[in-house]
Amino acid sequence: MDGLMQHEALIRLLCVGSVLVGLLAWQRLRPRRADAALPGRRWRNVALVLVSAGIVRVLLPLTPVAFAALAAERGWGLLHQVGAPAWVELFFALLVLDLAIYWQHRASHHIPLLWRMHRVHHSDTAFDATLGLRFHPAEIVLSTLYKLALVAVFGFSAASVLVYEILLASFALFTHADIAVPTRWDARLRQVFVTPDWHRVHHSVHRRETDSNYGNILSAWDRLFATHVAQPRDGHLGMAIGLHEFRDPRSQSLGALLRQPVLPAHRIT
Ligand SMILES: [Zn+2]
Repeated sequence: MDGLMQHEALIRLLCVGSVLVGLLAWQRLRPRRADAALPGRRWRNVALVLVSAGIVRVLLPLTPVAFAALAAERGWGLLHQVGAPAWVELFFALLVLDLAIYWQHRASHHIPLLWRMHRVHHSDTAFDATLGLRFHPAEIVLSTLYKLALVAVFGFSAASVLVYEILLASFALFTHADIAVPTRWDARLRQVFVTPDWHRVHHSVHRRETDSNYGNILSAWDRLFATHVAQPRDGHLGMAIGLHEFRDPRSQSLGALLRQPVLPAHRIT
């Protein structure tokens, strides 16, 4: 466990980095839409995640994984009172965390202050794996604080939190990937998991579709809480991606993305 903790950053980077490289290769070989994008778009999305990671590191001294190890030492959280077998604890942690992130995402669409941060993710006008990295630093800080609170309440193990974090980041890349998944595979996969076709609906310019399909890993939450839209009304190839108020290329620079939450849409440019 100590080795796991010491090498948390390296383990995450290797796992998630490999998924990204694999998806970029798949996108090149078998793209679904091959959206036209502004020059440098992918690098700006990567730059935004690096800025976010740097800010989180400075502001929050403990990652959720390190905090879970501390909580275990001190006996904080429900699970430390129960003493469940490791595999039961892992299964429970993955379910609870995925459900909690579903509600966080749904709240981000309905609470105006949270939407100002989250719309930075939605203002991208193209859909590819790097969109899974594009989140405003303020949203990442809030989401990390939310995970710390969940760890404090439930007492998930450090290993479970690390597995969830790697799965969450990998699914964020996969579900935004511009990859052609055969229709029959997609139909089977989406019974359990969020797929790129399922999640692309969430990036539609039509608000009814933007406010749907909030799930990150499991598709069950959207079915259970009646927020799923199976297919986009304009078709997967015809649908427009992004937000009506952020279509000017000047709203897509790194500086504009960082300012998006604090300015009204018409002032971004
Ligand atoms: Zn969203």
